[in-house]
Amino acid sequence: MSIVSAIPIPASHLDAARDAEPATIAANATMAAGLPFADKRDFEAAKRGLIAPVPDGLVRTEGGTVLWNLGEYAFIDGNLAPRTVNPSLWRLAQLNMANGLFKVTDRLYQLRGFDIANMTVIEGDSGLILIDPLTTAEVARAALAHYYAHRPRKPVVAVIYTHSHIDHYGGVHGVVDAADVAAGKVAVIAPAGFMEAIAGENVLAGPPMIRRAQFQFGSLLPRGARGQVDAGLGKGVARGTPGLIAPTQSIDRPVEEHTIDGVRIVFQLAPETEAPAEMHMFYPQLGVLNMAENACPLLHNFIPLRGAVARDPRVWSKYIGDAIAMYGAETRILIGQHHWPTWGTDTIIEYLKVQRDLYKHIHDQTLRYMNKGWRPAEIAEVITLPPGLAERWSARGYYGSVSHNVKAVYQRYLSWYDGNPCNLNPLPPAPAAGKFVEYMGGADAVIARARVDFAKGEFRWVAQVMKEVVYAEPANAAARSLCADALEQMGYQAESATWRNAFLYGAQELRHGVFQMAARPNMGADTVAGLSTGVFFDLMAIRLDAAKAAGQSMAINWCFTDRDETLVLTLEHATLTHRLGEWSDTAQASITTSRATLDAIVLRKTTVPEAMTSGALGIEGNASKVALLFGMLDQPGSMMFDILTPGEGR
Ligand SMILES: [Zn+2]
Repeated sequence: MSIVSAIPIPASHLDAARDAEPATIAANATMAAGLPFADKRDFEAAKRGLIAPVPDGLVRTEGGTVLWNLGEYAFIDGNLAPRTVNPSLWRLAQLNMANGLFKVTDRLYQLRGFDIANMTVIEGDSGLILIDPLTTAEVARAALAHYYAHRPRKPVVAVIYTHSHIDHYGGVHGVVDAADVAAGKVAVIAPAGFMEAIAGENVLAGPPMIRRAQFQFGSLLPRGARGQVDAGLGKGVARGTPGLIAPTQSIDRPVEEHTIDGVRIVFQLAPETEAPAEMHMFYPQLGVLNMAENACPLLHNFIPLRGAVARDPRVWSKYIGDAIAMYGAETRILIGQHHWPTWGTDTIIEYLKVQRDLYKHIHDQTLRYMNKGWRPAEIAEVITLPPGLAERWSARGYYGSVSHNVKAVYQRYLSWYDGNPCNLNPLPPAPAAGKFVEYMGGADAVIARARVDFAKGEFRWVAQVMKEVVYAEPANAAARSLCADALEQMGYQAESATWRNAFLYGAQELRHGVFQMAARPNMGADTVAGLSTGVFFDLMAIRLDAAKAAGQSMAINWCFTDRDETLVLTLEHATLTHRLGEWSDTAQASITTSRATLDAIVLRKTTVPEAMTSGALGIEGNASKVALLFGMLDQPGSMMFDILTPGEGR
């Protein structure tokens, strides 16, 4: 997904951060005592095959702007966890510092720690096959340059996207020239449904997803023992310029073998798993299985905190089982597009079985409780992992958590509604909060009691009740401060990097306000150009201001000369619908233009009047209807919505 570039937040924000409370110190000590810290095998695996680390730990633009800086994490050393960081998360934060060019085996290399994901390089007979070119062109270019600094400079002959998340394709312009792809010199290979998945998962609900991703990744938190230490899948998401080159070749069958530049690749589709379009690969000549992002050494998300359609852990588990059955016995090395590899057939099969059962266990046990009538928060409180999973480092909830994955399973099957009609039509948050606080004797009384609970270490409850006071009285400094303090302690205790980031970033917004940045398009030009025309009009439809459109009706023909496409757009009942491939003889107006022009309008590089003046957009018929329609569309605003406070007009 497109992610707002990190903008440096003053490190002085950390000065407001408090130390760990006794209850936090105790909780972190309990966790430390229950886990096998003496097992250092992951640390050996993370360093194995290192050729050279990321030069200076830095990636800069040509102008010198720092886009990626591992030096920000210099505080993560080999020592024991600070008391403000969960000790298990601290371990992962140390492991994710391994960075550079790694030789995994003959012909297969990985670039790790240039971004949140890995770029894998397979040396073909004449050129390179690159798998997952990171998030932005700048870091992908730097990673490839680092490879070339230590290996022969062969041309890139193919790029493979393992799945439809931006950290696996966004940097493609840094490693290949779009003209070479268009000329057929470089193949771009992706799983079936790749482009539809990008549009479906990230485009229609793009703005809140980007805003919520700030909480998930902690991109606007200072790094530090009281700030961001990790993002679970890696240190964080690189800044720079994301883009997209559409695939030239799609993998459509469940299992499909191709030989690319002398390298046999068996593709295994795994749709509706970690991403809607995802695939694994087995390289028989190398004995390497690449599980993309479906078998990371952690518990992944059934729904990420940024928001998404709930994933299907049942099929996710099944595809891992299929990979074990089809490739396990021949696999010598397991790699993924995040983290470090696993070596040894027996170890790999055991590892994959843990992943297979981790996802299935949470799915099955959640349904078991659902079928007894339990509610999401109740199920999340009782499900713990069984022996054999619980103490495995590779099953720890560093990215997903058992708690929010249980709720994702519930949502997938039974929706947001817990079935209790008292919860069917409650007051919205702010008026409900006003009533709660009034019934509880006013804000001062609630805060006084919550301070007592804070001292007892009941941080979950303090955050829960202080949310009501903050929503009732957003300017109440004491309430904001106490809410921030409680969230912060929850962050210090969280094993999940995404939970820690969310809690600490919530505390930061309560203390320092919402960081404001200018409104801008939430999609890059490549993504906009890659949208099907149908999705484009879906995007237009979700901007229709229903109040302005009430009582209006019209039909408008569209003709896109550069795509040989026509479409009828109909406004009725304050709703826009469209019919691709049709043309209405009774339409009020007909617009002839190009998708390129419409793309430029969406990207705010031009306007409708400018396009009309230049001749790039022509209107026949009643042009005032077209102006009326565009006047009914919301103008994109800032994505920095209020989250910790009610927000204007709500
Ligand atoms: Zn990823």
